[in-house]
Amino acid sequence: MICEPPVIHEMSERPPGYIAPNLSPLGLELHPHQLDEGVYALMANEVPKDNNGLVVGDRAALVIDSGVTPGVGRHIQEVAARLTDKPVRYLANTTYHGDHTFGNTAFGPEVTVFSSRVNKAAMADLDAEKRIRVDSMYGDDAVLDEVVTWRKPDVVFDRFGEIDLGGRVAQLWHFGPGNGSGDTIVYVPDAKVAWTGNFIGPAGIPPMMLIGDPSSYTRSIRAMRATLDIDTFVPGHGFAGPAEPGTSGLLTYLEHVAASVSRRKEAGESVTAMYEEITMRGIEPPPGVPEGFMALLRSFHRLNILLTYRWMEGVDAA
Ligand SMILES: [Zn+2]
Repeated sequence: MICEPPVIHEMSERPPGYIAPNLSPLGLELHPHQLDEGVYALMANEVPKDNNGLVVGDRAALVIDSGVTPGVGRHIQEVAARLTDKPVRYLANTTYHGDHTFGNTAFGPEVTVFSSRVNKAAMADLDAEKRIRVDSMYGDDAVLDEVVTWRKPDVVFDRFGEIDLGGRVAQLWHFGPGNGSGDTIVYVPDAKVAWTGNFIGPAGIPPMMLIGDPSSYTRSIRAMRATLDIDTFVPGHGFAGPAEPGTSGLLTYLEHVAASVSRRKEAGESVTAMYEEITMRGIEPPPGVPEGFMALLRSFHRLNILLTYRWMEGVDAA
C-alpha cells in the first residue's frame, strides 16, 4: 500500500492588520558568520529576510536553503565560492516555502537537493505558492517573475537522513509538524549547530503557527530536544543564537497560547478580545528591538492566537 505523505494544510486566514514579513530579495546581502571550521551561518543583512548556511567537508559542501529567487540562489553560491574551494554538491530545504526553495533552480544538476518527504509533497502548486509570497515582496513583486520552475527535492527522508561531506556529516531530521507539516532540521553534530528553518529559533521571536496545532508542535520540539545536542540555532529568519533558552521559551509560549485560547474559547470570549488579553509568555524580545520589528512580532502573536482558535474549532467539530 502506498500512503500519501501527511501534508497538513496551512491556514490562509490572517488577523486584521496582519503584517507580512519583508522577504524581498532587493538589497539582500548574505554575510558569513563562522561558527566552527567550515561551518557558516549566512546571515541576511536585513532582518527578517532569509538566512542560509554552508557546511564544508573534505570532499564537498552543503548549502542550506536557496532563497526566494534563482538570483538569491546564485548569490548564495557566490558567497560559498568565496569561503571554500570545495564544490557545492548538496542543498537542503528546511521547508517547502518559496522563500526557502524558489532558488533551487539556480543550482546545477551536480547538486542533489534534500528535504523531508512531506516538504516535497507540499511543493505541488508553484503559482499558488508565488501568490502567497507576494505580500512579503513589499511592492517588489516583479522579482518573482524570475521564478518559472520549482525544482523539487531529489532525495527525501521520513525522519532521518545523513549526508557525508568527507570527514564530516550533516544530519537531516523531521520531528513532526511545527511551523509547517514537513519542517526539516539540518544538524551538524561535530559543531552542535542546527539550521532550524521556521521550526524554532533563539529566544525572543514568536513562531508562526501556520497549521494552528500547538500540541503537535510542542511534541515535535520535545522530540528534537530529546534527540539532538544543539548549542546554536541558525533560524531561517532573525538572529542566530543559543538553543537555550530558545527551546524552553517556545515550549512555554505554545503551552500558554494553547491553554489560554482553550480556556477563553470555552468561556465564550471572542478571538478579537483574545488578541488584547493573551500575553507572549515565554517570548522575551531582546532589548532595543526597533518598534517596527516589535509590531511584526505582535502580528505573529495575533496570527498564532487566531489559527490556534480555528484549529480548536476544527477539533471541536470533528
Ligand atoms: Zn521563510
